[in-house]
Amino acid sequence: MQRIVVLAGGIGGARFLRGLKAAAPQADITVIGNTGDDIHLFGLKVCPDLDTVMYTLGGGINEEQGWGRTDETFKVKEELAAYGVGPEWFGLGDRDFATHIVRSQMLAAGYPLSAVTEALCDRWQPGVRLIPMSDDRVETHVAVEIDGEQKAIHFQEYWVRLRASVDALAVVPVGAEQAKPAPGVLEAIAEADVVLFPPSNPVVSVGTILAVPGIREAIAEAGVPVVGLSPIVGDAPVRGMADKVLAAVGVESSAAAVAEHYGSGLLDGWLVDTVDKGAVERVEAAGIRCRAVPLMMTDVAATAEMARAALEMAEEVRG
Ligand code: GDP
Ligand code: CA
Repeated sequence: MQRIVVLAGGIGGARFLRGLKAAAPQADITVIGNTGDDIHLFGLKVCPDLDTVMYTLGGGINEEQGWGRTDETFKVKEELAAYGVGPEWFGLGDRDFATHIVRSQMLAAGYPLSAVTEALCDRWQPGVRLIPMSDDRVETHVAVEIDGEQKAIHFQEYWVRLRASVDALAVVPVGAEQAKPAPGVLEAIAEADVVLFPPSNPVVSVGTILAVPGIREAIAEAGVPVVGLSPIVGDAPVRGMADKVLAAVGVESSAAAVAEHYGSGLLDGWLVDTVDKGAVERVEAAGIRCRAVPLMMTDVAATAEMARAALEMAEEVRG
């Protein structure tokens, strides 16, 4: 059986995984999820990226939005607001609240996040093994300048409240240096036949996972093909504001620059969209095999084609 490891953020990672499952129904898929976006709200631990993967693969996602539960209501949020209790900028629905209550209760009882995630997945049956990158707390902060004053704010405040409307001066995964990979992460990488980077945010999703000491090294040393798919199409993120956080790490918003940012020490293959076929030569000059294929995840069939192309490239570079 083919063992595939995927480093995933939220929406981009989750949608890609749905296509990968369709393309490789027999494969054993382990997803290492980003937890740098996690935030404590109303006394609850919220893990947006883990939940987006779990809900998307488990059939509970709000399809149009790409995050949160389908058929959602917001009574609890309204009641909290009536008490003047915020933040109001983070959309937590009633159904979603239940997930965070269960998670927080289990964490308070002493279970590590990886065990909690496994318990939540017992209900959702995502068809993949979902492991948080670490059981230790890592929180991505963004340095910004507002009204002439420099400060660091939580990634969610930057992304959701400010909609990345000010420049990100720096992006710091606070706690990453001291964090250890969660149980199963290094083992899954060591046993993998192929490692895939979905079209997730290269800085605040995949970059954060790679910032946990040991994970980047394990991937580079596993001796298996590592293939990524560009989240940047036609010099802009397909969705969201990835260009803002790329600028913070000095990377231009282009498919080729993202490949160079990961580098040939990590990546063996890179897929760019057909509109970026002009980038193929530059990526190959950086020592990374590259091909242009359609990279828009418009439906599961189109996404499955992308996953097939990534797995094919993995076989090509296996050498
Ligand atoms: P987040 O945690 O919800 O922000 O999700 P991820 O980090 O997993 O993915 C976000 C990235 O997915 C963004 O940078 C988008 O550009 C990218 N993305 C979203 N939809 C598509 C798509 O259809 N095709 C490609 N190539 N990238 C996409
Ligand atoms: Ca995210």
